[in-house]
Amino acid sequence: MFALPPSRIKQLAREAGFDLCGIAPVHNLRELEVFPTWIAAGRHGEMKYMEARDEAGELKRAALARVAPWARSVVVCAINYNTAQPYSTQTEDATRGWISRYAWSREDYHDAVMRRLGKVESKLRELADSTGHCPPPTGHCFRSYVDTGPLIERVFAKYASIGWIGKNTCVINQKLGSWLFLGVILTSLELAPDIPAPDRCGTCTRCIVACPTQAIVAPGELDARLCISYLTIEKRGEIPPQLRAGMGRHVFGCDICQDVCPWNRKAPASQEPEFQPREALVNPALEWLAEMTPEEFRETFRGSPVRRAKLSGLRRNAAIAMGNSGVQKFVPVLERLAADSDPTVAEHARWALKQLRINLASS
Ligand code: SF4
Ligand code: SF4
Repeated sequence: MFALPPSRIKQLAREAGFDLCGIAPVHNLRELEVFPTWIAAGRHGEMKYMEARDEAGELKRAALARVAPWARSVVVCAINYNTAQPYSTQTEDATRGWISRYAWSREDYHDAVMRRLGKVESKLRELADSTGHCPPPTGHCFRSYVDTGPLIERVFAKYASIGWIGKNTCVINQKLGSWLFLGVILTSLELAPDIPAPDRCGTCTRCIVACPTQAIVAPGELDARLCISYLTIEKRGEIPPQLRAGMGRHVFGCDICQDVCPWNRKAPASQEPEFQPREALVNPALEWLAEMTPEEFRETFRGSPVRRAKLSGLRRNAAIAMGNSGVQKFVPVLERLAADSDPTVAEHARWALKQLRINLASS
């Protein structure tokens, strides 16, 4: 066991700008055992990267000990990205859409978190070297990841005592809530692990009840194919018509199951400059998004996770949101979109026009 006290590692993380840090072991994380069943049931939808397997045919994300046999510990760091803006459940303007809170920031969070993680990693490396824990010839190994590692970060976050995994599948910290970006450092250093965070959901079921598409199929289990985040970001092409009404006015991601969580009621706002919102992305006008040009999309979402949805996906989502809005002033823009050269946008606009007609007839 590397004789560096965990408090020293946590101090390094704080100095690098993280709010929380803990150490997880590599083995015996029982939450990983259900991952293969979840994949086999197809609940990951079209997210093929989740199916990545090692040479033995095992799912990489469930087998860190095989994928990185040199790893002895996982240092998990977390940073609060909450801002002082209202929650989606507190805004009601039907002419405006909703972009998930994590995507408002001025810099892509992957870069912001990785920069801080790099500082922790290099300090750890220095310490390992200076204390003679660097066996020749190769020295100790470190690998830092933000979302891209062969592991399910939230499981390791629980074992590192960052927070428990809520029924909404998010990591929740008792003091900070669940608006947390996670970064992990795999290391060959054998560090003393933290005690796993205890579950504090209790009898609460607010997130399950509030989910508009019933995507939380069991406490802590998500069917991504039903989740608005998946539908608006990852799903390409047609969105199944039976799911469109439940998407409400979400155009990129969904925060509802976090907005309703009691642990987020008093979640503090981050003071980090990179996580302050771009005002245009908070509750944006649907018409603006629906008629965005490629140049405007590139310019507006430079360095933003929203680029993942691509322009076609964002306009498709805006068309659905207009159809769900009940706002008849969207008819002209939807008629233009119904003749769009992008067949996906055009089909969803036709669906939206039909919804508005039904809405008018029933009012
Ligand atoms: S993100 Fe939205 S759709 Fe997905 S589980 Fe949470 S409330 Fe449901
Ligand atoms: S809303 Fe309730 S059940 Fe859901 S994650 Fe928060 S505390 Fe847990």
